[in-house]
Amino acid sequence: MERFNNKKILLSFLITIPFLFGGFIPNETMMPAFRMKKIVLDAGHGGSDPGNIGSKAREKDINLAVTLLVGKYINENMPDVEVIYTRKDDSFPTLKKRPEIANTNKADLFVSIHSNSAPNRSAFGTETFVMGTKHFEANFDIVKRENSVILLEENYKEEYEGFDPTSPESYMLFNLTQKGFIGNSLSLAEQVETQFRDRVGRKSRGVKQGPFYVLWTPSMPSVLIELGFLSNSSEEQFLMSKQGQEYMASAIFRAIRDYKNSIEVN
Ligand SMILES: [Zn+2]
Repeated sequence: MERFNNKKILLSFLITIPFLFGGFIPNETMMPAFRMKKIVLDAGHGGSDPGNIGSKAREKDINLAVTLLVGKYINENMPDVEVIYTRKDDSFPTLKKRPEIANTNKADLFVSIHSNSAPNRSAFGTETFVMGTKHFEANFDIVKRENSVILLEENYKEEYEGFDPTSPESYMLFNLTQKGFIGNSLSLAEQVETQFRDRVGRKSRGVKQGPFYVLWTPSMPSVLIELGFLSNSSEEQFLMSKQGQEYMASAIFRAIRDYKNSIEVN
């Protein structure tokens, strides 16, 4: 008698299951749409590596100030997005460590922020890079300068497996790991330059490609922003001012917000 009851209970339970869970069985139409949840912000240089130096400004300080502001604006306006910094102070994460932080955290976006310099002091304007080797020769100076940071690391020969940032041949090693993300990277880069040009009134030198070490290994859309030239005195002054830093950071924030909206629609 008891056994019969157990069977009956079991049977009625089994019959009920589809009604209980039927509405919750995941199918394709119920899969959650893509949401950009994590951004890694990378303030270029730091610590013993000042980066480019103007008459007064050090690149590492400008990069950090603007990067922290971008993070602040994201936190204030996009509470569903987590901001992860490669550095929040005057420390020096290695070029290898920076994309590693993004990969370990499974970030959806990697944004590296830098300031430029050129022997020609009249050169000024912003540029945003995505990983690539198109017109590589034209940008070799800046690529070499940014990548040469690794020469400051003690065991760079072992760490970077013979990669020599000053030798064009070394760049043959760069493979196309970023290829799958090029469309999204370009889309963000375009929005950053549009914001700089149309909303902040900067001279945009455009979206470019370059084999930057930090853009090589991130497994997500990635850009490297050059805020302007510290070798140009008026641009240096602008980038050193609080207002200039706020304008540039708001522009980058709006570009990230527009990019997020554009990829989340689909
Ligand atoms: Zn730099």
